[in-house]
Amino acid sequence: MFPLSPDAVLSRLAPLARTPLATLPTPLLPAPALAASLRGDIDISIKADAWTGLGLGGNKVRKLEYELDPARLRGATDLVTAGGPHSNHCRVTAAAAARLGLGCTLAVNGEPGDAGRGNALLHRLLGARIVTVADRAAREAAMTEEASRIAGMGGKALVVAVGASTPRGALGYVRAAAEMREQVSAGDCPAPRRNPPAIRGAPDDSGARSEAPVWIFTSSSSGGTLAGLMLGCALMGWRAQLVGVSPDDPAAKIRAAATEIALGAAALLPHPPRGPDPRANDLIERVRNVAAATLVTDAFVGPGYGAPTRTAEEAIALFGARAGVILDPVYTGKAAAALIAWVREGVVPSGAHVILLHTGGHPALFR
Ligand SMILES: *Cc1c(COP(=O)(O)O)cnc(C)c1O
Repeated sequence: MFPLSPDAVLSRLAPLARTPLATLPTPLLPAPALAASLRGDIDISIKADAWTGLGLGGNKVRKLEYELDPARLRGATDLVTAGGPHSNHCRVTAAAAARLGLGCTLAVNGEPGDAGRGNALLHRLLGARIVTVADRAAREAAMTEEASRIAGMGGKALVVAVGASTPRGALGYVRAAAEMREQVSAGDCPAPRRNPPAIRGAPDDSGARSEAPVWIFTSSSSGGTLAGLMLGCALMGWRAQLVGVSPDDPAAKIRAAATEIALGAAALLPHPPRGPDPRANDLIERVRNVAAATLVTDAFVGPGYGAPTRTAEEAIALFGARAGVILDPVYTGKAAAALIAWVREGVVPSGAHVILLHTGGHPALFR
């Protein structure tokens, strides 16, 4: 049964309902001038998930498509979620609520500083009701309390997990992995150079013609995005080298979270029609192997979450000037800093096709 083609992955996902919110597929943008300015022997592309559309886009849109499954939405009058005062997740959830004709309450830990700027401004423009709580630890209780308040008024709240990083939400990035695989083999992006060695000597078992080794860098925090990519690669037997770059937590924590979410997402996939899938364990094994081969780094966090770093500032300037792509300082700037450093230091092998998954976050530039 494995490996699956990208189309077969989509068929496997088809019985799992989603609410369409994103503008898909997002383009895979070649960045030849950027690549040439770093090293002559690699290609770079940007997977533009900053352009998923809803509420200024970003990676939360794909995750919410599954998190807001029509069955879970049935009877709901409100969405309730939580995040920081400049949360991208809160922005997109508020936009989804508005699009779906629902109310939205956000439990926000801390004051934004300037509520008239960045995501704090957008949360209000999208019509969300904002409840300020003392700290991160107080968010869960506040969400429960808001849900009961809404129930008390005859409504019904759907509580959306922080970051939508649940097994269900991660399915959005299984789709994204299939989309990228398709774009890479269709040559929507640069052709393979010379005859590069396969990553770690492991042949790609997805049956595709020989291709350059693919390295995919993504910012990873609550782990749902990376988890979906892991499961997608496991389903397709795609030996893309995944790299998760932390904007905040220690690498070990992110790896553990992403692995657990990926295994949970694998368990949601329907079994093939004739009874239990005898090779279900094969998929679990595959996910574990991909997770073990995934690189996770916290070397680019700098002083902390949201704190500027010299390397992220350089990355933002370089992607802007050499690729016409605008990154953000909190997440994608740090992921791109890792990409640049690993390309320069030769961690990324000659002949590689390097992809930055652009997860969004632009409003942080304007806060
Ligand atoms: C939320 C977010 C991330 C992290 O994604 P996870 O799925 O939580 O790991 C990365 N980049 C941006 C711009 C985000 O908003």
